[in-house]
Amino acid sequence: MSQPSPSLPTQEDLDTLSLQLGRPVRDVVEIPARCRCGSPLVAATAPRLSNGIPFPTTFYLTHPTLTQAVSRLEAAGVMAEMTERLGQDEELAAQHRAAHQDYLAERERIRLASGLEPVWEIEGISAGGMPDRVKCLHVLLGHTLAVGRGISPLGDETLDRISDDWTPAVCTCAEAWDHAAEIPTKDLSRHVRRLKEEQQ
Ligand SMILES: [Zn+2]
Repeated sequence: MSQPSPSLPTQEDLDTLSLQLGRPVRDVVEIPARCRCGSPLVAATAPRLSNGIPFPTTFYLTHPTLTQAVSRLEAAGVMAEMTERLGQDEELAAQHRAAHQDYLAERERIRLASGLEPVWEIEGISAGGMPDRVKCLHVLLGHTLAVGRGISPLGDETLDRISDDWTPAVCTCAEAWDHAAEIPTKDLSRHVRRLKEEQQ
């Protein structure tokens, strides 16, 4: 995998993210990882949403092929297995703690680039169970895809372990989500809400 470089989201990117997730996205400030075809794999979100709520998951995995593959891995008990290894392997534990620091540094970079005040509610708090545990493999893989291999050992391992379902070499975008669907927007949800109210 070549070293990814951050890029600002276009309107097309934001529409694709909304289709991938099935809901409108907000406060996405970068697309830090893309499929070889250009579609977003990961969205970077500002640490404080425009509605004021702190958002600790800086790197959010959006591509359905990836999220589904990682969910299968989680269902197989891999998080507990990794957490156990953190308690036994001091070198791995140190690398996982360093990944935690990198996550915080990336969030700080994004905060500054977004012109936001410090987000005190999540200061020192990363995501995914870091620094001592593994609670979400989506977070760890999002981090690996965003910053490249060699930073998060368990994110790198997650990428290796989903290789039957997804690798950077193969684009699965055509089948991964409905490209012809109506793009979810805030206006649409308000419209749907009004329709539902009228039906009651
Ligand atoms: Zn693709």
